Amino acid sequence: MSRKVIIAGNWKMNKTAAEGKALVEALKPLVADVTDADVVVCPPFTTISAVVEAAKGSNIKVGAQNIHWAESGAFTGEISAAMLKETGIDYVIIGHSERRQYFGETDETVNKRIKAALAADLIPIVCIGELLEEREGGKTEAVLDTQLKGGLADLTGDDMKKIALAYEPVWAIGTGKTATPEMAEETHAFIRKTLNDMFGKEIGEGVRIQYGGSMKSENAQQLVAQPNIDGGLIGGAALKADSFSALVHNALTE
Ligand code: PEP
Repeated sequence: MSRKVIIAGNWKMNKTAAEGKALVEALKPLVADVTDADVVVCPPFTTISAVVEAAKGSNIKVGAQNIHWAESGAFTGEISAAMLKETGIDYVIIGHSERRQYFGETDETVNKRIKAALAADLIPIVCIGELLEEREGGKTEAVLDTQLKGGLADLTGDDMKKIALAYEPVWAIGTGKTATPEMAEETHAFIRKTLNDMFGKEIGEGVRIQYGGSMKSENAQQLVAQPNIDGGLIGGAALKADSFSALVHNALTE
């Protein structure tokens, strides 16, 4: 089954509105030729509107980095699905390991956020991944299985058609250590098998699974060439137009 490649940049807590606008203005001509992949940038909340405006008329899509599950209410510092939708974005990253590590995100809250995003017609990019000690302790598959079963609980096959997953080994995020293409593929294949078991092969085979963790232009081609790797979620290399564009183009090289 052919799955459209998706390359998403996670800007994390970087770029003011003016800086984000400048980055997208610089990126637009560099990726204007990309028709066979979804190119997404995910700025911080306060930068979203400027980036949506700058991306208008281009093939660059915009996403957020988090969403709250409630429609409104006493949740200081949080942002609802309707608020995000109003800005004109299409995607939202959910369950990034930094949110799990620093902000108490659990599989249960990931699940609630996914449901809120889907209800607002936003495409969730759902992050899963193991810690270094879990990888070294031979627990990777058990950890991913738990994250998938918990995070995707009660979702239907139709829901899964609107979701992308991002496998991000936590030990590879921002460290310069990338999983080898073979290691990443082995884990993506496990994730695919788990999805097939949970939702049926027809659905599981259609879900896009991005790789994340120190992906850059130099290793993007080899990673995305793997049968079960359908793109990337990019941190550091997404913060400059030329490095992000080079990564996107290399990822799409046969
Ligand atoms: C990320 O934060 O999702 C990520 C993959 O970061 P980096 O590319 O910097 O490792």
